[in-house]
Amino acid sequence: LSNDDNIWDDAYALDRAHVFHSWSAQANLQPTEVVTGHGSTLQYSDGRELLDFTSQQVNANIGYQHPKVIEGIKKQAELLATIGPQYANLARGRAASLVARRAPEGFEKVFFTNAGADANENAIRAARLFTGRRKILSSYRSYHGNTGAAISATGDWRRKPNDYASGHIHFFTPYLYRSEFHAKTQDEECEFAIQHLKHVIEFEGPDTIAAVLLESVPGTAGIIIPPANYFKKVRELTEQYGILMITDEVMAGFGRTGYWFALDDYNYVPDIITFAKGCNSGYVPAGGVILSDPVAHYFDDRVFPGGLTYSGHPLAMGAIVAAQDAMASEHIVDNAHDVGENVIGPKLRALVNKHPKIGEVRGKGVFWAIELVKDRDTKEFVDDDTMKQIVAESDKRGLIVGTHYNRIHVTPPCVITSQEASDGIDILDEALMAVGC
Ligand code: PLP
Repeated sequence: LSNDDNIWDDAYALDRAHVFHSWSAQANLQPTEVVTGHGSTLQYSDGRELLDFTSQQVNANIGYQHPKVIEGIKKQAELLATIGPQYANLARGRAASLVARRAPEGFEKVFFTNAGADANENAIRAARLFTGRRKILSSYRSYHGNTGAAISATGDWRRKPNDYASGHIHFFTPYLYRSEFHAKTQDEECEFAIQHLKHVIEFEGPDTIAAVLLESVPGTAGIIIPPANYFKKVRELTEQYGILMITDEVMAGFGRTGYWFALDDYNYVPDIITFAKGCNSGYVPAGGVILSDPVAHYFDDRVFPGGLTYSGHPLAMGAIVAAQDAMASEHIVDNAHDVGENVIGPKLRALVNKHPKIGEVRGKGVFWAIELVKDRDTKEFVDDDTMKQIVAESDKRGLIVGTHYNRIHVTPPCVITSQEASDGIDILDEALMAVGC
């Protein structure tokens, strides 16, 4: 097709002709055209306005078309639209300081990346260099990104066709609903999961392990809220063996769980934190690595052998500064916390009594999963068709929902109002009823 083929103003036709999509067989895709958005709603090209319970790839924490973030990007574009990472730049310095401020004490330095995968990639690089060890331990139930080491660190199926990196060992993290350890309570699940990790470390050889890399709430893998003491105990183990702890806050960070960082609810301090998505809600791609002082200072007199053309890109930095300012001044993280506690949690839990195929509801803030099962005893997944029908029935009624395997992930923007959250869950309720769940 050429530009003369009369499709020049037809987004759908252009997409099908030229755009190669992520994680998909290409032939039968039918992408919907989104024209614009506002707050927690998106407008499709047919004029319909839908409430978004996905935040896209769980990144649009501040909602759509936030005027302050758009203004921040515009101002920076007018001042300086691009500059290399070797220069000092005010937007970059301010963005680094605003991000570091949300980490525990003792984290001052931020290495900016383009997104979450390369944040994990560089965190792993730093951990390997700092410790002089090679192996990275991560959870089977995880997603860490789509670059070489990040996809190998990932626990789910996506690592298998992409497994080129080496030194990645997987283990089981707590998931009481489908316990690997036959645990009956969260305390047992925590204790057994720690024993399991200790064994994995001992059998792999502690002095071969550079870092344990964990999402503070495994997101794509099922929004599995870890037990209260899990990370503290992982921290004790890693300290005992001189292993670094990398916390991946790419999805869970910046308000998603009702905290600035999800780790704030766990009372431990890792060595490295990675972030992306919610730092500027993806208005311009950005991510990064926050280094604790000892790791950062290790590179004071040694070259860090990593870098990116767009590390700290000024438009992304302008978006971070504006998004961080707006999130703080508009109390957006508190909103996510309160809507989760007062509306989403209670209303989703109430659905359990009404819909026999709901096996479990779990989450916090604006980060929730509903597991659908054929039978509550066997916990067998409902089939893919049922999940597709739920999406279609929700769409008909004006709600965008995301599903993964047998789960509905309820992850609206952190700015969602109580009314919107309540209306969206009512739609979900009707959709579940319509498909016989
Ligand atoms: N880490 C986590 C926890 C994620 O959820 C994701 C993406 O969903 C990534 C890393 C990768 O981020 P990106 O897609 O921005 O590279």
